[in-house]
Amino acid sequence: MTSTVYGAIILGGGLAGAALAAALSPRVSLLILEREAHLGHHASGRSTGMFIPSYGGPIIAALAEASRPYFEAPPGEVAPLLTPRDVLHVSRRPSAAPSATALPVSPAAIHILSPMLKTQGLRSAWLETGTGELDAVGLHQSLIATAVRQGAGLRQGVRPQILGHDGAVWRLRIEDKELRCSALVNATGAWADETAATLGLSPLGLTAYRRTVVLVDPPEPRPQVLAGPIIKDLGDRFYFRPYGQNLLVSPCDETPSPPTDAQPETGDVALAVARLKQATGYQPQQIKHRWAGLRSFAPDRLPVIGWDFRAPDLFWFAGLGGYGVQTAPAAGRLAADLFLGTETPATSGISGHNPQQFSPMRLAERILRATKV
Ligand SMILES: Cc1cc2nc3c(=O)[nH]c(=O)nc-3n(C[C@H](O)[C@H](O)[C@H](O)COP(=O)(O)OP(=O)(O)OC[C@H]3O[C@@H](n4cnc5c(N)ncnc54)[C@H](O)[C@@H]3O)c2cc1C
Repeated sequence: MTSTVYGAIILGGGLAGAALAAALSPRVSLLILEREAHLGHHASGRSTGMFIPSYGGPIIAALAEASRPYFEAPPGEVAPLLTPRDVLHVSRRPSAAPSATALPVSPAAIHILSPMLKTQGLRSAWLETGTGELDAVGLHQSLIATAVRQGAGLRQGVRPQILGHDGAVWRLRIEDKELRCSALVNATGAWADETAATLGLSPLGLTAYRRTVVLVDPPEPRPQVLAGPIIKDLGDRFYFRPYGQNLLVSPCDETPSPPTDAQPETGDVALAVARLKQATGYQPQQIKHRWAGLRSFAPDRLPVIGWDFRAPDLFWFAGLGGYGVQTAPAAGRLAADLFLGTETPATSGISGHNPQQFSPMRLAERILRATKV
């Protein structure tokens, strides 16, 4: 039996595992283990790739803005990952501006920006700029390629068995091979609490919520609709956006789900069509494509990043919720800094926020809250 020792083994090759590996691989020998045969089989391959920093509160906004330079100029010969597209936020209730720079939009201007939207009944509309669409698959590949170029190993389609910590290192088995590592990283997305349970640890209360997406033909006038903004309901009842030659529609469903290979439910697909019709009057003839994925949140809806004091050298990077694409580069750098114990806003490139908000103490607080020890 062969035996290899790594600085860290990262469980999970989604955007979380990939982003941490890209940031950590210059300093730590890494192996990423992904259970599925293909990277992006779960949440990271099912997102709608929107870059809306205001979506998720000030900490998410800081992480998204700190990720922007990576999206605009990714390393290597990779084309920019961010395509600018404005967001038209609408609401049937009087609503505050979603961001400090959002501009109020009159009903007449709504009609020009998005001729498909019914303006009757809308009480607020705001235009947010600096937003756009991300190439989520390209981002994932770029982060993985960066990690591998810097020496990280990657194994896909393996079912790691965690044998335990022997007082010096973690011991794992994949197939007939025993692996050893100084630190174990839990980047298993919707499975993060389940992964902790296999180590005998109580859950941190992460919940996976299913979200559904459908693609339909855009309504007329097609060229304007396809060139138009992302349309997002401030009450989180729907968003629509051009997606190639299609219109992407989500009813913003959040149905709690066990960690699983999420599939779209008929009722949620119908809800997407109903909300599109309610907002625009448009009834698509057919659903061209549909999918669903799990967005995993901690109770406070902020990422879970840090060392777990209940186990030796166990690090978490999970709970990226509905923001794991737009925050991945900076969240990965922040996680690497916390891993190395070198966290400062300067190294993470995140300005305007107290690093204590992201410090390991946060994870300790979470554990204490979740387990009531
Ligand atoms: C419908 C939808 C729309 C979204 N839209 C956006 C958006 O517009 N903008 C945005 O920023 N974010 C969006 N997101 C959120 C984003 O996709 C997620 O935050 C992000 O992909 C989470 O990445 P992750 O690596 O934590 O999880 P995952 O991608 O699920 O990766 C976790 C991986 O761990 C693996 N794994 C599990 N257990 C083990 C184990 N024991 N050993 C090895 N591997 C294991 C799994 O197979 C999985 O591949 C959306 C998500 C969904 C579902």
